[in-house]
Amino acid sequence: MRPLKAIIHQASLRHNLATVKKIAPQSKIMSVVKANGYGHGLINAAQGLSESDGFAVLTLHEAIDLREHGFEQDILLLEGAFSAYEVSIAAKMNFNLVVHNLNQLHMIEKLKLDHPIHIHFKINTGMNRLGFNPKDVKEILHTIQKKSNFKSITLMTHFATADEPKGVDWQLNVFNDATHSFHYPRSVANSASIINFKNTHMDWVRPGIMLYGASPIVGQKSSAFNIKPAMELKSEIIAIQNLFKDDSVGYGENFKAKRDMRIAVVACGYADGYPRHAPTGTPVFIEGKKTSTVGRVSMDMLYVDITNIPEATISTPVELWGMHVHVDEVAEKSGTVGYELLCAISASRRVPIEIIHG
Ligand SMILES: *Cc1c(COP(=O)(O)O)cnc(C)c1O
Repeated sequence: MRPLKAIIHQASLRHNLATVKKIAPQSKIMSVVKANGYGHGLINAAQGLSESDGFAVLTLHEAIDLREHGFEQDILLLEGAFSAYEVSIAAKMNFNLVVHNLNQLHMIEKLKLDHPIHIHFKINTGMNRLGFNPKDVKEILHTIQKKSNFKSITLMTHFATADEPKGVDWQLNVFNDATHSFHYPRSVANSASIINFKNTHMDWVRPGIMLYGASPIVGQKSSAFNIKPAMELKSEIIAIQNLFKDDSVGYGENFKAKRDMRIAVVACGYADGYPRHAPTGTPVFIEGKKTSTVGRVSMDMLYVDITNIPEATISTPVELWGMHVHVDEVAEKSGTVGYELLCAISASRRVPIEIIHG
């Protein structure tokens, strides 16, 4: 079997959840497990995060998967229902729905439901992605209160700049102005906001990336927030090439050796989710040493300088990211964020996931 695999550490997930609890002790925790648990596997992630008060997913399918695996917590669909059929299933299986526009509201209103639905009423406070216009909130909430299909309401918004100097006050003020006369539970904080702004913790927090051990704030190390990587991406050396000065390696002769070099060919490429934009110099961990990639990442393979690691040979293990090379370092070199790299691993659908319980 090809040696590439993603190893998921449930102990890290549990540790990171405990860290969120320490940072926001008064809030209930809705762990975000969308995108297949940020690439870790939905059920693997949920098992590691089983002490959560709730889970947030994107699709009805994910919500059903969680219920069928015995998770009895609140389960929230982050974009709500996409059809009347989905609303009726959500009502039957006791899923919570985001409601972010009038279409969704009318869809729920009109149905004959066995059980009323708990909704998260989403307000657009400046990100301009999903949510009701703040000036309409009062009127719409008053009409919802009278309709029997709505069991209860949580007020929700999402921040665009919780990880940036601009902060969240500009949106928080809009949120508070629009909702101050309603005494419903509130849910506003993503990972960056949980870390940066205590006043956003409120009734629920919605951590995602920090549960998986990557940093929500570009340029700040995750270890500074007491969170640990939950995924190790590991492979092996499958070939070794000895280069003379001026030889090149890989497509486009993108890298030329300035001296004689020993190069490892590693079984991992961009079709696995490793970023093709990772430049020469992206860190890799082999035999207890940090070294780096050279040349252009191929579809199924990449190249690593092992000139100074003479003990490295065919079958030697390689950590592409994990405990020694942080996924955020690879992301930063590649011009992206840890989020994208973690998600890409399961999106590739060809990296086996191995789960370490305990
Ligand atoms: C994805 C998501 C989160 C989690 O964000 P992180 O930055 O990963 O913590 C929270 N709330 C909503 C609405 C989301 O879509």
